[in-house]
Amino acid sequence: MIKITLPDGSVREYAQGVTGMDIALSISEGLARNVLAAKVNGKVVDASLPINEDSDFQLLTWNDTDGKQTFWHSSAHLMAEAIEALYPGTKFGIGPAIETGFYYDIDMGDKTLSSEDFKKIEDKMVELARQKNEYQRSPISKAEAIEYFTEKGDEYKLELIDGLEDGSITFYSQGNFTDLCRGPHIPNTSFIKAIKLMSVAGAYWRGDISRKQMTRVYAVTFPKQKELDEYLHLLEEAKRRDHRKLGKELELFAFSEKVGMGLPLWLPKGTMLRERLEGFLRKAQVRAGYSPVVTPHIASKELYVTSGHYAKYGQDSFQPIHTPDENEEFFLKPMNCPHHCEIYKVKPRSYRDLPLRLAEFGTVYRYEQSGELHGLTRVRGFTQDDAHIFCRPDQVEEEFMKVIDLVLYVFKALGFENYSAQVSLRDPENKEKYIGRDEDWERAEAAIIRSAEIKGLPTVVELGEAAFYGPKLDFMVKDALGRKWQLGTIQVDYQLPQRFELEYTGSDNQKHRPVMIHRAPFGSLERFVAILIENTAGNFPLWLSPDQLAVLPISEKYEDYANDLFLRLQEQDLRGYIDHRDEKIGRKIRDAEVSKIPFMLIVGEKESAEGKVSVRKKGEGDLGMMTIEEFIQLAQEEINKNLARIS
Ligand SMILES: [Zn+2]
Ligand SMILES: [Zn+2]
Repeated sequence: MIKITLPDGSVREYAQGVTGMDIALSISEGLARNVLAAKVNGKVVDASLPINEDSDFQLLTWNDTDGKQTFWHSSAHLMAEAIEALYPGTKFGIGPAIETGFYYDIDMGDKTLSSEDFKKIEDKMVELARQKNEYQRSPISKAEAIEYFTEKGDEYKLELIDGLEDGSITFYSQGNFTDLCRGPHIPNTSFIKAIKLMSVAGAYWRGDISRKQMTRVYAVTFPKQKELDEYLHLLEEAKRRDHRKLGKELELFAFSEKVGMGLPLWLPKGTMLRERLEGFLRKAQVRAGYSPVVTPHIASKELYVTSGHYAKYGQDSFQPIHTPDENEEFFLKPMNCPHHCEIYKVKPRSYRDLPLRLAEFGTVYRYEQSGELHGLTRVRGFTQDDAHIFCRPDQVEEEFMKVIDLVLYVFKALGFENYSAQVSLRDPENKEKYIGRDEDWERAEAAIIRSAEIKGLPTVVELGEAAFYGPKLDFMVKDALGRKWQLGTIQVDYQLPQRFELEYTGSDNQKHRPVMIHRAPFGSLERFVAILIENTAGNFPLWLSPDQLAVLPISEKYEDYANDLFLRLQEQDLRGYIDHRDEKIGRKIRDAEVSKIPFMLIVGEKESAEGKVSVRKKGEGDLGMMTIEEFIQLAQEEINKNLARIS
């Protein structure tokens, strides 16, 4: 008998050679029907693999990431089977699962695969899946494996086999298809119920541009049609909300090749949005005891030699700037921290001065390969909502709690209700990898965990994920489509205070080293605005909307009334525009809708005669006629409702 320990800690005894499927059946038949694979002592294996020793054991279903990955990789074999049946002679490279779905790299000789072939392949996959063919594992000798693929004429598989050790090689077969594979796989093909080929792309064999370009076929599968439908709907919705598309349509930002790739130009409306975000955080930070500072966009090489950034990133960053006469060497600022350390050093600090919280909307420049650039989320120049807190070791916990408060305040104000945190700690087995005193680490790590707990943050703790210079806490938010984004970070740093020899005089009159905390609730304004656009689909809360209203005169006869009205609204700090164009009112309304204007104020004969406006609200439609005072009150209530959530 062997002992099987389940995830809940309970231990069951089974005969040696028991399989994951046997264990599932012994628990419940319903469970067994959903089992895709098993995890034995941390390793994912076929549910049919015999277990021969005492083991930690977990069943994997569609609800587990490893279960999904096994499902998708098995689907790659099914797709290969279908392609081979339809296009005999196709050769196969590799077919892994990816984050969502899977791909297979194939070589079809002269044939080029296009989206017109997708339906045929999908249908064939459905047909083969219904045959409920088992994925059968068979260990095979290297010689036999070579013989099989030599006969088949697949040089890609032969090259892969060449790199494997005899005795470690396995084949998997389902139906009429056999593949070289380490596994694991799902029990049989009938689990795969919904299938969609997504796209084809070129991919060099083994990622080597000197090798043959193969065809990479991307696809996704699900155990239920409904799940595929939902997935495709989310993709459509994500496309509709893509910040690059909306940024252009709403005239928020642009890129110019002349200015340079990855260097965003903020247009007037985008700037309005950005300045409101900045103003909002600036105000919150002053209340939280931060002191704003401003530092230059370039700094002498010496600064980054001291900070260590030169040794670490010097080669990968933008290259230095040399002055013409004195031949000084400057770098574009990749980080604000070294500058803030120099601000700390302008005068002696005592324990009573701490914490010192220096905040800066600091623009930094980092070189990214042009292929890596993506809208506002991957750029070469961006503005961090940065701050550095210099404090005593005994203040770390309190400062952490204050930063968490500030970050959650920001999230709530901007409608991110679904957030969690990851705490990254030292690898306890490998303490010598990290700089700083052991007792400081222990204290800071405990403080981070405690403050996250006190603040009720759903938290995962990851051992060994800390930077060598300190533990940290990262915030993750889920957007309206359920996608996860990493936002703000709080990072403890023992290194920079040491490198810059920062000190304060303690109550004991001795010199001590302060702890530095880096933090940025938005991360960067660019990335944050991108996420905000995608989360709201461009329907910003009224207080943030670049244009809050549009005044739409029905004809030029009502221009004067429209002008007077607009002035009165501006006096109340409401912003927007008058549509003076000689267009039909229907067209003006449609255009305002496309621009996602929260309020449309339509003025014609009746409105001007009675001193009123007809109001249309985005998402709600016609609100009828009202006096100007009534409208102002309505708009202000809406703004206050937004802001009440955060006060
Ligand atoms: Zn496989
Ligand atoms: Zn920093």
